[in-house]
Amino acid sequence: MGLQDSLNAIEQDVTDFFFPRRCPFCGKLTGKALLCPACEKTLPFTGEQAVHHTTFARCAAPLYYEDRVRRAVLRFKFHRKLGGLNCFGEMMARCAAEWYAGAFDAVTWVPVSAKRRRKRGYDQSQLLAASLCVDWHVTPVETLRKTADNPPQSATGESAARRANVAGVYEADPSVVAGRRWLLVDDIFTTGATMAECVHTLRLAGAADVVCLTLAVVRNRENRFPGE
Ligand SMILES: [Zn+2]
Repeated sequence: MGLQDSLNAIEQDVTDFFFPRRCPFCGKLTGKALLCPACEKTLPFTGEQAVHHTTFARCAAPLYYEDRVRRAVLRFKFHRKLGGLNCFGEMMARCAAEWYAGAFDAVTWVPVSAKRRRKRGYDQSQLLAASLCVDWHVTPVETLRKTADNPPQSATGESAARRANVAGVYEADPSVVAGRRWLLVDDIFTTGATMAECVHTLRLAGAADVVCLTLAVVRNRENRFPGE
């Protein structure tokens, strides 16, 4: 172990001492692990069903959006509980490495509107994209802009209404997007309406390809985007 490694190890120990790591799904102290052993065994992982094919793109997620996962995502998204970011990012990075190896050469995310970002203080999908990129030594690229502050999808009812709610609200700069194969990151895949609109916008701006990745996906396929 070199000097720098030793210093890094000491720094990590000190950080662990003052800010002990907790499992983002149940709150138990985890030592150096990102996830506690119980959640490692019992979380609703998607496993072999991680990828589903929609009419607009392949979409992958490491977890189903239910129980502890749902509560952890809501804390992260609406209550500024950002402590799970390392864990979420690593799960998503592993999922992308397993299912999308060689399928993309740049990473971007589904943005919130400028107004919502000011109110919330952060853009949760941008944070997820940044976290999953850490070990790859790349930086996510800002491509999409939300041009209208439409009502949140979580407040909108069935899937046709959700599609209408997001139609035409994103734009992308072709000089950034064109010719690259994108990994598009978001927090939750519910009906796929938001993802579909963003993929459409990226393709119109000249994207060579788009694959999608979320932290969690709703298990019930009936509520998802039609055509799956
Ligand atoms: Zn746990």
